[in-house]
Amino acid sequence: MKKNKTIVVKLGTSVLTGNGYHLDTRHMVELVRQCALMMEQGHKIILVSSGAIAAGRSQLINHNENDNYDKDVLAAVGQSNLIQTWQTLFNLYNIPVGQMLLTRADLEDRERYLRAKHTLNSLLKHNILPIVNENDAVCIEEIKVGDNDNLSALTAILAQAKELYLLTDQPGLFSSDPRKNKDAQLISTVSKIDNELKSIAGGSGSDVGTGGMATKLEAAEIATRSGIEVIIAKGRQPNVIIDLANDKPVGTRFTVMDDIVEGRKQWLLAGPASNGCLVVDDGAQKAIFTTGSSLLAKGILDIKGQFNASELVEIKNVNNVTIARGISCYSSNDLLKIKGLHSENIEQKLGYLNGSAVIHRDDLVILDVNNIKQDLKC
Ligand code: GLU
Repeated sequence: MKKNKTIVVKLGTSVLTGNGYHLDTRHMVELVRQCALMMEQGHKIILVSSGAIAAGRSQLINHNENDNYDKDVLAAVGQSNLIQTWQTLFNLYNIPVGQMLLTRADLEDRERYLRAKHTLNSLLKHNILPIVNENDAVCIEEIKVGDNDNLSALTAILAQAKELYLLTDQPGLFSSDPRKNKDAQLISTVSKIDNELKSIAGGSGSDVGTGGMATKLEAAEIATRSGIEVIIAKGRQPNVIIDLANDKPVGTRFTVMDDIVEGRKQWLLAGPASNGCLVVDDGAQKAIFTTGSSLLAKGILDIKGQFNASELVEIKNVNNVTIARGISCYSSNDLLKIKGLHSENIEQKLGYLNGSAVIHRDDLVILDVNNIKQDLKC
């Protein structure tokens, strides 16, 4: 077996604290040992490390007992403690680390996305281990990715990783909540993320982190769609990273989707938050899904939100399900004037033509593929 995979390892707060309220350095040493061994064998590792807020909380616990700290304060204090701890531990193996703190805004703009991609890949090229977290200290809700599961999927896309390990306090995804149902079964392989699976995943799992199984499924959907295999496994299981890198059957493995997207479309899929939304009719939905067509004005029923031309928008069907994302050639104001029109009438109506399609097929990426295809029976 060739041992040169790029692997993103996401460590949830529960893994790093053992569900306690401070960093468990004894376990972090163990994780570092496993990463170092895998790097020695030729793999490239990127850590997406949670734990800043928890570390901040534990640092400030005796500082001023009457103070209530906001998350940005906890993150500012905790992130430096977190990275310092990682740095000290990886130093034991002579592995330099590089910190990358990202927000959704860094991935929204294509130039910044490409810049982040360049930095991440340069670190890997120089055998420096990147350690990624959300920049919680400066990040307001609107520009946050919000949880490190999704952030790790975006990181895996940036690095064009082969595998993403979502390490948590659960051994994987179960057929029902194992804390409530003792007959719950571990699902070993998932080849299709559909609504049934999403309903099994439910909400947040542990008390200390942000993510739960639901955000792990979102991350798995984005990553597998981009050709990256995803595994959810227990971060405190002995040798878990080594076993996963050696393809042992551990946790829940999400296989790569059939219709993977590449390059620019990965950015559309993963990076930008959406500025507005177009509601399309059944005919347009079918054309997008079955023949990979561009979205035409004729199929647009409604426009929601305000956006300029060249901004990213979501495309929803009549059931309010987001089916695709894409770059609109027209602003929301102009789309209100041309919705429902045949393409040949656009110029006459607006006095200019930005293209006969509202969203060209090259600027459009389909979401929720499995469920929509099921509905369309295609
Ligand atoms: N960025 C947060 C932290 O470092 C964690 C978010 C998450 O675990 O999803 O504390």
